[in-house]
Amino acid sequence: MSREGVLVVISGFAGTGKGTVVKGLLDRYEQYALSVSMTTRQPRPGEVNGVSYFFVSKEEFEATIAADGLIEYARYVDNYYGTPKAYVEEQLKAGKDVILEIEIQGALQIKKIYPDAVLIFVMPPSAEELRSRLEGRGTETAEVIEKRMKRAAEEAGFIESYDHIVLNDVVDQCVEQTHAIIEAAHSAPSKQKELIERVRKGLQGK
Ligand code: 5GP
Repeated sequence: MSREGVLVVISGFAGTGKGTVVKGLLDRYEQYALSVSMTTRQPRPGEVNGVSYFFVSKEEFEATIAADGLIEYARYVDNYYGTPKAYVEEQLKAGKDVILEIEIQGALQIKKIYPDAVLIFVMPPSAEELRSRLEGRGTETAEVIEKRMKRAAEEAGFIESYDHIVLNDVVDQCVEQTHAIIEAAHSAPSKQKELIERVRKGLQGK
């Protein structure tokens, strides 16, 4: 019997390298499925519709909200971002650990709806390192970088809402630490109901 999937939220300030950590998990282990979000942001060079995001207009996004098609959504630096519901539910049922790479407001909504979800925050080694990674990426204007740094300062106030903090200094180590946390979540009593029930019945002589 396949085990029940764990819902995993991975957040971190823009430029922390959380995308690289998520890619490491997907490349190394078959148990993961990545949820592709919907956004009204413009695609960056190299981003593919349906792979990086579902890129939609504001009208389409609002229609999806109205149709109850999103588990959560948030506004982030002038755009909407949200998690389509159907894929997450399907993959969890199929026993996959589903990863949501989302920002903090979305993470808090997820914790309310799925109390068993594991919330992981990826930290940069320092604020200076964060800025230089963001600038080094070369995909955003100076104005957008400033907005994202300002947003990081606001988000920093909510880090304690997460279940785990992982440091992304050496990527490989960060991937393995994150994987170990998710594996440990499979031993929560809520994920072991069948085993508990079976042994209990045996003990009661049933
Ligand atoms: P970016 O524009 O850099 O791709 O993403 C901006 C922020 O939005 C990141 O923190 C990213 O994790 C977050 N984000 C991406 N998809 C979603 C989503 O579906 N819901 C929420 N709440 N945030 C998202």
